This record gives sequence, C-alpha cells and structure tokens, in this order.
Amino acid sequence: MKIHEYQAKEILEKYNVAVPAGIATTTVEETVEAAKKLKEEGATLFVVKAQIHAGGRGKGRTKKNNAKGVVLCKSIDEVKEAAENLLGDVLVTVQTGEEGQLVQRLYVTDGVDIKSEFYLGILMDRAVSKNVIMASTEGGVEIEKVAEETPEKIVKEWVEPGMDLQPNQARRIAFALGLEGDALKKGIKFVQALYKAYEETDANMFEINPLIVTPDNDVYALDAKVTFDDNALYRHPDLAELKDESEENPAELEAQKYDLNYIKLDGNVGCMVNGAGLAMATMDIIKLSGGDPANFLDVGGGANVETVKNGFRIILEDQNVKAILINIFGGIVRCDRVANGVIEAVKDPEIAEKVEGVPIIVRLQGTNAEEAKEIIDNSDLNVISAVLLKEAAEEVSKVLA
Ligand code: GDP
Ligand code: MN
Repeated sequence: MKIHEYQAKEILEKYNVAVPAGIATTTVEETVEAAKKLKEEGATLFVVKAQIHAGGRGKGRTKKNNAKGVVLCKSIDEVKEAAENLLGDVLVTVQTGEEGQLVQRLYVTDGVDIKSEFYLGILMDRAVSKNVIMASTEGGVEIEKVAEETPEKIVKEWVEPGMDLQPNQARRIAFALGLEGDALKKGIKFVQALYKAYEETDANMFEINPLIVTPDNDVYALDAKVTFDDNALYRHPDLAELKDESEENPAELEAQKYDLNYIKLDGNVGCMVNGAGLAMATMDIIKLSGGDPANFLDVGGGANVETVKNGFRIILEDQNVKAILINIFGGIVRCDRVANGVIEAVKDPEIAEKVEGVPIIVRLQGTNAEEAKEIIDNSDLNVISAVLLKEAAEEVSKVLA
C-alpha cells in the first residue's frame, strides 16, 4: 500500500527523523492559510508539492496549466498561484504514465536551503532475503539511473529481518555519503531512526530522495516515499487508515473487495486464471504468441459462478480488453462446473452487455475436462474452447488479428 508524502513525513516525525515543517491542504484558501502559518513560524521560502502516489513530480508538468508538481515560492502570492495551477489539474510524471494523476491535495512546506543532496532508501532485497539500506551521493536523481550507469556510487548495508541495524552499519552509510562533523552525527541518527521506522511499520520501502544537508549542517528528509506490506497491514490498523482510495486503480480496488488477486497491465488480452503460477505462465504464453496481457488475475482455487462473474466485471472495466482468455486447471474444482459457471456468467445481462464483441477463449484442463469442452462447444455463445495452452494462445492471436 502506498501513502502520500505528507503522511510518510508524519510517520518519520514520530520516529524522530527530521523533516521540514509542512501542512497538507485540499483547497487554494487552505494552502494560503498554511503558508501564512509557516511564515509566522519563520519560513521565508515555501514549497508547494502535489500529493499524488507517484514520484518525479519536480520534473513533471500538469496537463492544463503546464505547472511543475513541486514549486518553490518566495511569497504567499506565489503559493496562491501554484495552488491555483495545481489543484484540479492532472500531473504527468515519468511514474504516472501518459494519463497522469489528478491533483487533489497539496503539501506546503517550509523551504530549506540545500548544501548537498543524497539518496537514502531501505527496501527488501529479495535475492538475499534481507533488508537493504542503499545510499548514494547522487541525490535528487532517479536511483534506477544511478544503479544502471554508475552502480559504484551506491553503497549498501544488509540487515537480517528481525535483527537490528548495527551502529557501525549506520556509521558506514553516513561516512560513505561524505558527511562530516555535526552533519555526520545527525546523519548516523537519521539512518538509525529511518531503519526503526521501516522495521516497525512492516514497510516494503522507505525512500528518501533527496536527503539533504543544510548550510547549518542540519539533515532533513526533503521527500519521502513509503509503501507498506499489504500482508502485514492487519497488524497496523492506524496505517491501514492512511489508504487514499482515490489514488488507486478502480479495478484493483474492486478486486480487493471480491478477494481476487488482480493487477492491471497495459495489454489487450484479459486473463482469468486459477493459481498465481498458472496465471504467470498464461501471461508468458500470451506474450509468446504475439499478444499482450491486459492484467494478472488469480481467481483462487474455487472458481465458481460468482468468482467468474466478478472476474469478468473487473477485466471488462478495462477498455483496452479485446479478448479474454480463461485458463482454469480443475483439480479440486471440476472443469464441467467451471464451464457451466462461465456460461452462466456470460449470460448474466450485466456481463453479456459488456462482453459483446469480446471473444472469450476457455481452456479447461483436469477433472472432467472433456465434458467441460463439450459444454463450451455446445453453447451458442461467443466462447471458444481450447485444450492445450498453446492452442488457447493461438486462438487469442487469431481473434486479435
Ligand atoms: P519528486 O520530484 O517527486 O521526487 O519531489 P521532491 O520532493 O524530491 O522535490 C523535487 C525537488 O525539488 C528536490 O529534489 C529539490 O531539488 C527541490 N526541493 C524540494 N523541496 C525543497 C526545499 O525545501 N528547498 C529547496 N531549495 N529545494 C527543494
Ligand atoms: Mn524526490
């Protein structure tokens, strides 16, 4: 689960990770009031930041007003202008894709002076099953680019899950960033506090880009990108509440309601599969036969009429879908029952309307597969049966051609 920068910074503050003062707002008036309040507290420079679930805002532009997603303002008037430009406009960044993301919330912060910028991130290193802390002197730049072009500029420290970050590891990171004196001391504390926040919130990622040092040698998290492990959210009801549903893909939200495992992709072949492994194999075979999967969808072991219907509803919400491939292995669930389920689902008036013109290719294997094929073949619906996965994929490419 992703959260906004302003929410991430509230968490950081609780863990004594220093962040510039800031206030989240949803209207121009609120934004102006927030800036006035920061001014009373001593701010002379303000930063107005679009709160969307995507990074790269500083270099992004909004569609209508061509405004940057992070605006440095020298006066309250400039804050007002930035808020007017951003709120209600759609911000496009390298991370949002072309469609962009509607700006409904802003974060006004006390603008700080930057002496140097760094990258500091904590995430899971799946290859070694450990948490990894990554730091780089190349702050403010996309870390993927640094990793690709100058990997030697990234230092890493690994921590076994459940173990603490060792003080010497935090020191090594701070030294590697070239911090000195007060900034070094603060930097070490920063790394330690950040690791504690990451660990205790069951996060997947805490990314501070940039981490900055001011001319007064203060160390701040200027930006914060945080995601939590969905499977651990039940342990953190307070964090679960931070979810901003308006930022999430509507189909993915609906799938969560039905307890289906759905991830939207960019292709045009909708997939409905039971089991994550088979779902991945199905996507591979679609690719191999020249198609492009529109989604990952694991309907789980059951695959009854209701799950099939819900699967259709979610897949068909995506306008790009030109064909649907259903690939179910009947182990515990019998194929003939799934076949009847598919037919019943396609006859449902709500689904029938949406599915018109979208061919459905069904491949059922396992218990009672032959009966299932007969049921499909004898139905007068726009449903094509296939026995082998390869055949199913070929049918898909035929109907797309
Ligand atoms: P991102 O573009 O979505 O990663 O948003 P960031 O929060 O990282 O902001 C983008 C850039 O704006 C940063 O890399 C900084 O260069 C600049 N910036 C953000 N806040 C401040 C600030 O308080 N003072 C100054 N001088 N620059 C800032
Ligand atoms: Mn950033």
